[in-house]
Amino acid sequence: MSEETRAREDICRIAKSMFDRGLTCGASGNISQRLSDGTYLVTPTGSSMGFLDPGRISHMDAQMRHIGGDQPTKEIPLHSAFYETRAQTGAVVHLHSTHSVALSMLPDTDPDNVLPPMTPYGIMRLGKVQLLPFFLPGDDRMGEAVRGLAGKRSAVLLANHGPVVAGKDLWAAAHAIEELEETAKLALLTQGLQPKMLSDAQVQAIVKKFDVDW
Ligand SMILES: [Zn+2]
Repeated sequence: MSEETRAREDICRIAKSMFDRGLTCGASGNISQRLSDGTYLVTPTGSSMGFLDPGRISHMDAQMRHIGGDQPTKEIPLHSAFYETRAQTGAVVHLHSTHSVALSMLPDTDPDNVLPPMTPYGIMRLGKVQLLPFFLPGDDRMGEAVRGLAGKRSAVLLANHGPVVAGKDLWAAAHAIEELEETAKLALLTQGLQPKMLSDAQVQAIVKKFDVDW
């Protein structure tokens, strides 16, 4: 199977799995993946992640211009911003996942590190997650806000909208965004219950042992 054929199938399989588990609903969420020839596969605009057709995934050239398949998601500037600022990015996943969106709306969060230190995998797979302001859908300033982080963050949470996570490949990005959603869920489940967070020393030990960008 060619790299492109496999990538098209993986995108559809991962997207359907996320949709089936309620990680994004309706026609929300999108995925992009960089191929080794420098071109990109991107999920189409208006498509549901539960019902993607591998043959209709949008194909973009190295400058993110449309060269095949359906028209791409209008949230493409978000994806491009990660590829442009983080050379190690092989895929980007964006969801409208409920718990992450809820967390983005709570008062008293630290915008530079919006996820509370609850589990080692949340820290290992995501590093610090940046909370970005609310932007209208399709606003180019979303991409500018990601560029403004100068590649220092692999994961951001758009206020009142949802997370965007970059990874070295599609599986890494998918696993990381699921970790973000699960940590947000834990934060909401334990809100007001005085949960015992990981201590600064425990967080630092995880960062050191697993070489996390922090
Ligand atoms: Zn979105």
